[in-house]
Amino acid sequence: MAVTRTFSIIKPDATKRNLTGAVTAKLEEAGLRVVASKRIHMSREQAEGFYAVHKERPFFGELVEFMMSEPVVVQVLEGEDAVKRNRDVMGATNPADADEGTIRKEFALSIGENSVHGSDSEENAAIEIAFFFNDDEIVG
Ligand code: ADP
Ligand code: MG
Repeated sequence: MAVTRTFSIIKPDATKRNLTGAVTAKLEEAGLRVVASKRIHMSREQAEGFYAVHKERPFFGELVEFMMSEPVVVQVLEGEDAVKRNRDVMGATNPADADEGTIRKEFALSIGENSVHGSDSEENAAIEIAFFFNDDEIVG
């Protein structure tokens, strides 16, 4: 399996509770390496653009407001089969369904305020990384 990259966000519910380090530790324990990281406060334009794929979903407005509500930490993660590795350690979208040991089981508050984002495919990882990072900000 090749070393690949994925895109992660530590969401507002986690930064608000000072869990940036705790979430990052779970990612690192899962074999992922943080090769880019920055703390930002998303604009409405960024939040709506990033989640444009969900714009017809009933929770879109709530999701955009949530992502703008507090700072987030956007990251590029590298590792063997990084997209799947990250999705595995994140756990299910709804923390009630997440496996023991996953980030969402341990930290998420609800299906909306669920502590982390992770790309769902290598194709989307490349798009999402480029949405927030220039090449010279990623140091592997
Ligand atoms: P995932 O983040 O696991 O890939 P989705 O891509 O389906 O999940 O949804 C994107 C984000 O939208 C979720 O992480 C969550 O923050 C929010 N979301 C999803 N479903 C709901 C819901 N039913 N109600 C409120 N927010 C939701
Ligand atoms: Mg998703």
